[in-house]
Amino acid sequence: MKLRCATMKVTSRCNLRCEFCYEKQDNRKELSKDQIKHIIKFLKDNGCRTLMISGGEPLLRKDIYEIIEYASSNKIKTKLATNGTLLNCSVANRLKESGLDDIYISVGDMQDSDRLNNFYQTLKSYIHLSDSDFKIGVNVITSKTFINNINQHFNKIINAGIKTIFLIPPKPGNNVNWYRKECISSLYYIKLCKNILDWLDLIEISTDCAFWFLKKEIDIIKHDKLMDNYNCPAADSSFVINKEGLIYPCAYFELENYCAGNILNYNNVLSIFDSPGFQNFKIVCKSAESLFTPCISCKEDYESCIM
Ligand code: SF4
Ligand code: SF4
Repeated sequence: MKLRCATMKVTSRCNLRCEFCYEKQDNRKELSKDQIKHIIKFLKDNGCRTLMISGGEPLLRKDIYEIIEYASSNKIKTKLATNGTLLNCSVANRLKESGLDDIYISVGDMQDSDRLNNFYQTLKSYIHLSDSDFKIGVNVITSKTFINNINQHFNKIINAGIKTIFLIPPKPGNNVNWYRKECISSLYYIKLCKNILDWLDLIEISTDCAFWFLKKEIDIIKHDKLMDNYNCPAADSSFVINKEGLIYPCAYFELENYCAGNILNYNNVLSIFDSPGFQNFKIVCKSAESLFTPCISCKEDYESCIM
């Protein structure tokens, strides 16, 4: 067990209310800037190389630049996931100057035309930032409606100058009706896998390890070989820290029985991996006999999920 990457949700507040959202939005018990810096130092000292900063909407924090700068100065590759609505040229420049490596802008499942227009407008003003190593990608929720229009949406994304797409499966969240309507069945999953094949030469497509089969398919095509070792990193080499400092194996399993407690109470990362919550996750979701990743085998919390 060796920590490689962590996701830190620096707030659960957001200026949007997306149908597919699964964050409980409130501003109680948010970590302070000093606590976040302390956690970043702890992560760095324990081997973490990559930090994904997310939320809620992380740009709502006024100290976000200082947080990024601190992570970057600690030689951690720093990525930011944002809904993009607060981005403009000067914000993008400040993010870059703070040392941010990659930015992922969520375009939801591309059904909200106001949000998309805002996204295209904003993008025009700072696409020049992607000239250097600063990578701009989009996060897409692969709902049924998105998959039904996938070619049209991929075209739009590519025409906007985006070079990286990150596909995220719908997850049960705050709006149960939306999830029931838009969660994808096995047939839709197959349709998605077939459809992305045509796009792999034109744009870098990556995906959540919850899309186990798709991830494998992409790797086979891109690397022309079977990458047969898809070990779920959760509770082995990565974890998620919520806005209060509570640690969970993965954003898909932010459940009390898998919580390792508050990161501020730990002195070393091995005790986190050995915590009862993480051990429980491994027994329940990640048993040695399980052929697939937890996301595929888990029936506990995602009854209607295909994975
Ligand atoms: S999905 Fe993201 S952008 Fe949408 S409401 Fe939730 S936190 Fe905000
Ligand atoms: S639990 Fe699923 S999404 Fe999370 S790291 Fe493991 S395979 Fe990936």
